[in-house]
Amino acid sequence: MTQYDYDLFVIGAGSGGVRAARLAAELGARVGIAEEYRIGGTCVIRGCVPKKLLVYASRYRYALEDAASFGWNVGEAAFDWPTLIGHVQREVDRLSGVYARILDAAGVTVMPARATLEGRNAVNVSDREAPVTAQTILIATGGHPMIPDLPGKEHLLNSNECFQLEELPRRIAIIGAGYIGVEFASIFAGLGSEVTLIYRGEQILREFDVEIRDRAAEGMRAHGIDIRVMTDVAGVERAGDAYSLHFKDGDRLEADAVLAAAGRAPNTVHLGLQRAGVELGWNGDVVVDEFSRSSVDNIYAVGDVTHRVNLTPVAIHEADAFAQTVFNDTPTPVDHTFIPTAVFGNPEIAAVGLTEEQARERCRSVDIYKASFTPLKYTLAGRAEKMFLKLVVDGEAGTVLGCHVLGPDAAEIVQMAAIPVRMGANKSQFDATMALHPSAAEELVTMRHRWEPPKPVAGSDAAA
Ligand code: FAD
Repeated sequence: MTQYDYDLFVIGAGSGGVRAARLAAELGARVGIAEEYRIGGTCVIRGCVPKKLLVYASRYRYALEDAASFGWNVGEAAFDWPTLIGHVQREVDRLSGVYARILDAAGVTVMPARATLEGRNAVNVSDREAPVTAQTILIATGGHPMIPDLPGKEHLLNSNECFQLEELPRRIAIIGAGYIGVEFASIFAGLGSEVTLIYRGEQILREFDVEIRDRAAEGMRAHGIDIRVMTDVAGVERAGDAYSLHFKDGDRLEADAVLAAAGRAPNTVHLGLQRAGVELGWNGDVVVDEFSRSSVDNIYAVGDVTHRVNLTPVAIHEADAFAQTVFNDTPTPVDHTFIPTAVFGNPEIAAVGLTEEQARERCRSVDIYKASFTPLKYTLAGRAEKMFLKLVVDGEAGTVLGCHVLGPDAAEIVQMAAIPVRMGANKSQFDATMALHPSAAEELVTMRHRWEPPKPVAGSDAAA
């Protein structure tokens, strides 16, 4: 027994907080957790899960268009947004209940309240008079959408609000082309909105392989999305029932809704962290070591609040490692390399490991293998979309450094490719693996020819 109310107090019951609380409790700790909104956090309530359900909904458009080529007569299709949102919310409620029961079954005390730090061992919980004390405190408060500081920013929606719109906007402008902007652009376009995706950089999806970015933009344009790169929004104003965006180059655009998808920031404001002596980074993130320990040795942080890699499986992994380190006497650092990632747009893209550009910076020699073809499922309908796969290989050692896929089921393919890539497999081991036919993923084990850049034609400008 310690002098504290709890061995562990967790602030935030999202992906990281729930996992850490449950594991620590199962390892024998007395655990309390505070959640100010809904149990499950961003992923369950207004992130991965409801987003992916909307993605599925958006893809029915294309499946219905192609159905006749497979002999199906589906009649005239119509889409109803309130029906979709109602069903998605029902699933979100169910999942939030599952998470609550997991905590309950593990014996964790759940407090539906906002919590802030009072000191290195004390937490103020909004519905209690006296602070709660704990030997160890875990900050798992996640992040929030950032709204660009523009004239008329009060008119901007954020991603949370997209799940609560009463009707599908006829025209939507999306500012920002990271994964959230690209996914919502694809969702709204598939469901029937006119979508304009606005980005001030050169190409969408800044962190991906350049070729994948170009092909993703091309694929989205083929789905009717108006992508405007090198475009800066100067302000937004009301125009009757709609909004008018004005751009720095003087152009204007009318839309019925404007979504800001300009990144996320950690939830650390007014949390009392400075009062407890916890060091924060440039972005307001909690600075932690490889064991997720902050500058105060009994205060830890996991997930988006640390702004390392903002993905659900990463928050969960960090939480597992934290519980092992602190409550199971097994110091477990977290390895943040080779994390697979996906953008569930139309087309879908996914990647693990180095991009071609990163590999060229780090290795003396790089071999590229790639394949582009029409997926079998698109042939009968004559759909023009291509599947694209690319392997980035160390030209000297033969190690596969990166795997990039664009097209149907890209995320499913890359999840499995992440295992050999992380293990440091050689291209020759990919080649020695029998193909599974007919599949798109089989191309990963059948690409034999190194891609060579096109040779300049003698006498042309390129040869000069
Ligand atoms: P969160 O899940 O955000 O949980 C933090 C919790 O803390 C919240 O419930 C919050 O209410 C609570 N809280 C905050 N402050 C306090 C306080 N002071 N007191 C009490 N409670 C507090 N990741 C993927 O891997 N795949 C995806 O496809 C994907 N899609 C996404 C789509 C969208 C639109 C968004 C926004 C995110 C998506 N993510 C995705 C990211 C993923 O949701 C996050 O990385 C993940 O939820 C982080 O978990 P966390 O535990 O750090 O924080």
